[in-house]
Parts: sequence; C-alpha cells; structure tokens
Amino acid sequence: GAQIYTFGSGSADGDRSMKQLLGGKGANLAEMSSIGLPVPAGFTISTEACHYYSTHDGKWPRGLKKQIKRGVKFIEEIMGTHLGDSEHPLLLSVRSGAATSMPGMMDTVLNLGLNDKSVEALSRHTDNERFAYDSYRRFIDMFGGVVMGIAHEKFERAIEKLKDEKGVEEDTGLDTEDLKELVERYKAVYRKATGHMFPNDPFEQLEFAINAVFSSWDSDRAVKYRKINQIEGLLGTAVNVQAMVFGNMGNDCATGVCFTRNPSTGENKLYGEFLINAQGEDVVAGIRTPKDVTELKNTMPEAFDELQEHCNRLEMHYGNMQDIEFTIQKGTLYILQTRNGKRTGKAAVKIAVDMVDEGKIDNRKAVKSLVEPTHLDQLLHPQIDVDSVDKSKILGTGLPASPGAAVGRVVFSSEKAEETASEENPVILVRIETSPEDVGGMSAAEGILTSRGGMTSHAAVVARGWGKPCVAGCGDIVINYKKKQFTNGTKTIKEGDWISIDGTRGTVIEGKKEVVKPEMDDDYYTFMNWVDEYRDMGVRTNADSPEDSARAREFGAEGIGLCRTEHMFFGEDRIKAMRRMIISETDDERRDALMTLLPYQKKDFKEIFEVMDGLPVTIRLLDPPLHEFLPDEKEEIARVADELGIDHQKFSEIVRSLSEFNPMLGHRGCRLGITYPAITEMQTRAIIEAAVELKMEGKKVFPEIMVPLIGTPQEFHSQKLVIDEVAEEVFEEMEETVEYKVGTMIEIPRATLVAEKIAKEAEFFSFGTNDLTQMTFGYSRDDAGKFLKVYLDEGILQNDPFQVLDIEGVGQLVELATKKGREQNEKLKVGICGEHGGDPKSVAFCYKQGLNYVSCSPFRVPVARLAAAQAAL
Ligand code: PEP
Ligand code: MG
Repeated sequence: GAQIYTFGSGSADGDRSMKQLLGGKGANLAEMSSIGLPVPAGFTISTEACHYYSTHDGKWPRGLKKQIKRGVKFIEEIMGTHLGDSEHPLLLSVRSGAATSMPGMMDTVLNLGLNDKSVEALSRHTDNERFAYDSYRRFIDMFGGVVMGIAHEKFERAIEKLKDEKGVEEDTGLDTEDLKELVERYKAVYRKATGHMFPNDPFEQLEFAINAVFSSWDSDRAVKYRKINQIEGLLGTAVNVQAMVFGNMGNDCATGVCFTRNPSTGENKLYGEFLINAQGEDVVAGIRTPKDVTELKNTMPEAFDELQEHCNRLEMHYGNMQDIEFTIQKGTLYILQTRNGKRTGKAAVKIAVDMVDEGKIDNRKAVKSLVEPTHLDQLLHPQIDVDSVDKSKILGTGLPASPGAAVGRVVFSSEKAEETASEENPVILVRIETSPEDVGGMSAAEGILTSRGGMTSHAAVVARGWGKPCVAGCGDIVINYKKKQFTNGTKTIKEGDWISIDGTRGTVIEGKKEVVKPEMDDDYYTFMNWVDEYRDMGVRTNADSPEDSARAREFGAEGIGLCRTEHMFFGEDRIKAMRRMIISETDDERRDALMTLLPYQKKDFKEIFEVMDGLPVTIRLLDPPLHEFLPDEKEEIARVADELGIDHQKFSEIVRSLSEFNPMLGHRGCRLGITYPAITEMQTRAIIEAAVELKMEGKKVFPEIMVPLIGTPQEFHSQKLVIDEVAEEVFEEMEETVEYKVGTMIEIPRATLVAEKIAKEAEFFSFGTNDLTQMTFGYSRDDAGKFLKVYLDEGILQNDPFQVLDIEGVGQLVELATKKGREQNEKLKVGICGEHGGDPKSVAFCYKQGLNYVSCSPFRVPVARLAAAQAAL
C-alpha cells in the first residue's frame, strides 16, 4: 500500500485527520497545501514505515524505495529542478514529525542533495557562490551530526580554527574561498570520524537521512521525553521530505518563526522573530539576534501583508492559534510549517475568549480544545509580589519565557537537579541554554533560568508547555559551570544558594521570595462559565478547614467530597484531650476525654458548614491509626507523659503497644470506630449538633457522614447503627431534625467485590483511590517512592499510579463497584476523593464510569471542572 503521501502545488494526498499516519507536521503540510497556502512541494513517509523499520532491525518495508523515487520525481516536477543535477539541483529537507509534537526531540537534515558537483551548480544557478558553499558546509555538519552521530563540536572546532587563522570574528567574515576550504576541512572531520568518504550520491544521502530520522524515534532522549510527557500509543515518527527554499540567498530573503498571537499574553498581534538573509537554524541557534516580526512590515511590506493574511486564514481554518515557520526566498513567501501554538495558561484563556468574540470559533470549541486543564493549573500558580522586591536584590532580567514564580536552590546541571530536587529541596536549574538532553532535569526543577536564547528557545518552549516558570536569555548573568556559580558582575551566586525567578516578568532575584496568590481576570470567569455550560459531572473539594473550603468555593467547588477529621485533633488545645482518649483504660475515661473534644469538633464543623452554606459536606470519621497522634521520640514521650500526668514507663508501654508492623493495614479506619464506638458517637454528635444549630439559624446544611476503610457490609452496618442512634438522640434533645446521609469510602478491594451488599445500606460511595491503589497494587503509599522511580525509568509502569489512576487494574474495581452499587440502589451517589480526583485523565475516566462527582484539592478544582467538561464534549 501507500507508504508515501505527496503534497504541493495546491493539492495533497493526505489531510489533517491523518496525524497518526503522517505525524502532526506531515498532516499539516498536506492540509496547508490543499487549502492553497504556499508550501514547498514534498512528500511524507508514513509512521507505519517507521514502525516497520524499528521492528525489523532497520529494514525498510517492501516497495518503499520505489515510492520514494516516485516522490522525489513529484517534487522535481513541481520545482523544476533535479536531485543531484549539475544545472538546477534540487535540495531537500528531511524532518521528523510524530503525531504528538516533541520539540527538539527528533532530528532534521537540511540541504540534502549537495555534493561537489551540485554545489557548483547551485552556485551558478543562484549566482551566489558564497551561499552555495555555506550551504554545503552546513550540510556536511548537519549530516555528519544527525546521520552519523559526529559531535557538533568537531565541526565547531574546525570553523573556529579557520576563523582564528583568518582573523575574523563572525562566520559571515569568512569569504567564499574560506568556505571552500572549510568544506574540505569538514569532509576531513567526517572522514576521520566515520572512516568513510562523505557520500556524494544524493539518493544515498537521502536513504541515510531517512534512516536517521527513523532511528531517532528510539533515541534515549526521545524515549525520555515521551515518558515524561506521558506520550503513548504512537507507531513512530513520519518523515517529511520537502524541497528546500532559501532564506539566505541575499537581502531579499529572510526566515522566521511566528505565532499568530502572543503566546505569553494572548494579545492578538503577530509575535515572533526573523532574520534577513539567514537559514532557519540561525533563528533558533541564537547566533545572530533576530528582529521582531512586526518589523518585517518595514523591510518587506508585501511579504508581511501576505504573512498576516495567511496567519488569519490558518487561524480560521484550524480554529486555533498557530505557530508558523516561514521563509522568504527572493521576495516570495513560503510557509514551512504550522501547528497549534504552545502557550501559557493566561494566553490560552485569553485566546479562547478572544477567538469566540471574533467569531472564529464557538464557545464549545473553546472549551473542548483551546485550553488544557494544566493551563488552568498554571493560571492559578503563585506569583511574586513585585512591590515586595527590593531592587538591589534583582540579579538580572531576561525574557519572561514562562509565567509564575519559582523559588529554589541553584543547580547547574540536569543530573544534579534530578538527583537533589524534592519537595523540601526545590531547585532552580540554571543553564547557559538547555537542550533536549536536559528535559529530565528541567522536569525535576521548580523553575528554569538560562543566560542565552529567545522566546522560542528550547528552554522557553518546553517550560511553557509544562507551565513551569522560566526566565530565558538572561544576558545580565555569566554562568561558570566549572566553578558552579554565576555572577552579574557585582554578586556571585553559588550552587545551593536560594534564588527566586519570576517567569511572568523575566526577573531573577536573590534569595527566597514571598509568593502571592494569583488573580483571576474576567476572561477566566467568562471561560469557566462556558466550561460549566458543558460540564455535567459535579466537582467537589477535599478540604478540612474553613479557609480551604472558602478558597475551593471561590474556585467553583460544589461541596466538600472529603473532610478529613484527623487534622482537627492536632491543635494546641486538642491534642492533649486526644491523647487522653487514646490512653484511656476504661470506657468512662474514654468518654470523658471525648467530651472534651466534642465542642472543638462541633465548632470546626459549624465553621465549615457555614462556608459551604447550601452545599453538601462529606465528613469522614476518624481514619488514621492512633499512634499517629502520639510522640515517638524518647524525650517527647517523657514530656507528653508529664503533661498527661502518667508514669513514663507506663506511657512508653502504651506507645509501644500501639505501634504496628503495617499501620496502613492495621488498627485504623472503621476498625477504630468499631472497637471504640465512643469515637463515632462523639463525631456524629458534633456533626449533627452543628448541622441542627445552623439549620435553626436559617442555613442550608447537607451533612454526609462517611465511614472509612470498609471491607465488609457488616462493618458498615455496625457503624451506621451507631450513627443513626446518636442522630436520633440529638434530634430529640434539640427538638429539630436535619437531613443527613450515611455512606462509605470504597478503598479496600474487597469492598468493591461486595459493593452491592454495602449499597443496601450506604447512601453514597466515595472511592478512596489512594488506599484502593495501595491495596490493589500492594504498594505502600509511603514507601513506593523507593521503587516507583525505577519502575517509571524502566518503563515497567507508564505513570505513577498514585498520581494517574490505573485504569487497567484499579479502574476495573471502580467500574465494578459503581455497577454493583447502582444495581442495588439506583439512587446511590458515587464520587471519588482520592488524589486522582484532580488529575485530568483520571477525571475523564470517572466521567466515563458515570460518577456523580470528583473531589480534589482546592487549587485543582478549576482543572477538574475543565477536565470534566472536556470529557463530556
Ligand atoms: C484515599 O484513600 O483515597 C483517601 C481519600 O483517603 P486518605 O488519603 O485520607 O487515606
Ligand atoms: Mg484512605
């Protein structure tokens, strides 16, 4: 069958729907060509061919060679040139492009087709010998690097040496004869490194280059990038072979990159940079300083107008902001590439709202595809309070490459970042520039600072994609890797020192800076209103303080899905009573201690109910093993014993008796309430009294009492009896009632298997997927870190199952319990309150299972709202 797909001259074999087969770039080239954009002719080799190659020891599928020859002929006909021709040689670019964009991950070869003969022809044909030889030496360098794996430095050394000999500073100082000499020296570098002559046959060059692209799919850095970004299920990369057009044939030529709108702010204005008389890699490499794309209006007004028009057409056509590469060859504009532009969270929301306003898209499309859940995450990121920054602490200013504030200790290598970064030890990765090899360290770092590179540099693009703060191209600082320090001339910052970076403004600040809550603007609220128009699954929050509850409500939470009560016992005034309760030897003593706790609990619940007026609040009964409330160090034990007025020895014994081999599987959850019903009684009383009092004050309270860690219907039954009895008592005492529900966490695998029996009495289920994951995998939540990293590195797991719900395994249990529970009780409310409730992929799964709501931490509420809406669209 077809393994190549041609495009050019206003038509194409493929279209944009064929991303899986043609890769993003190939599908776009086909699409652009067929809507009449000026795309240089070419063809795309399918991802299936790459897959064949990588699964057949580097062999090509049958017939591919023939089809490629036909593809080359197709290009030759349109361009009126011939590969290797001594009159009008065709030069090709060979680029990778998978279905998902992977910036900088895969390799590109330009100027393919140049050899000793065609370089002469190119020189004659373009009347520019210098350009021809410059292209040739670039080709040898790139081909040597990408195809043969020769270190770029070897070529760099050769050019630097020649520049020294000639006494010139810039590459452009080399004249034609110098470049001819350089070509010979590059060939020598090539020969020395490979043991072969540089291949003169253009078809051989093409074959090698295609293989290099195929192989780069399985390169370490590509594999790593896919792993970090959770890119799965792709066949391979496509290969795009395309006629070269030149931005470096003179001063009526240029090359550039441009976003149709500002990717940082969302402003509706072309954003990008270009270089006159240059090739594409010059823009990215940052050797010459590019100009702002709007200046093109002055230098080449016609080409600028055309570019503007094409940008507009592309936005209309794709219904999204585009990221474009263009080249102007002798005054003629070519669009080389377009794709949906990466953008900041702020820009994503603004662009979505603006494009709806402009009538380019409808709000459904805006919700469905213009903003990603992680964009919102980014929008909610803390920012540095500019007013609080002492000017003398500013170490330098660079480009505001990716917004948000990050605070951490300076590290100068990605390895160091990967090794040392943790929650307690956040790091800022400081590099002259980053490359794809740095993605691991960039991912581990809190923020990224580079001294070189532009808004389209690797660091900027990758950080923006991840929503990670980044200041790029901060020329104010000089980095010294050897000494592990950087300086701005007056101050020197060493490895391990704290700095803060503000990716929104591009500032680098000495020391740890205070960060402040972000403000959400009108666009955000407009967008989130649309989100809720399309969302039909509820979003609640996990909160156990009035402050968190209030914040979550601002973020749009529709109730509390999990109020953990354990934190409430740690306050100064309560922990003592809690400990007295724990060490009680008789039921009376226990009740006595619990009576001290009751008013505190009641006050806590009242405050939370008040904040959540009108919305349901799910309160979970005490869950953790009791030893968590006791000291474990000798001195502390002695101090607490004194405080409690009990013998040291005796108290130590109690502490020891409470310690368990497997506390997570020990005396916790409903097992506490069953062995000490007084705890359940006190908590129920606090909840019901608080609710009734508020009701009497005119508030709307919907308490839901949740029993943790149920494994059998009998456990649930026994706790429900206690709860209902206390509730009745309170109603009688207060001569007022309130509606309440009693339900359970589903977090033990057994509970999912007997869910229909539990649902006979339970009014709701809430999946505690943290424990459910722990017990399904048998991975301790608290110890898994030790081996999960290896599992992920080795690809034994694709995701950390405590972060992204394991749909294949744990997901089955969720599905089963939901089905069984609902079969028994069709009114059963089902939700999730494990960490997965705020993870977009997991939210989508919950939607598919028909859950009534997801519950997540306050800051993830907007994320979950969007993920839920997108799941519905
Ligand atoms: C859970 O297990 O998923 C849960 C929400 O409870 P916790 O994290 O408190 O154990
Ligand atoms: Mg749990």
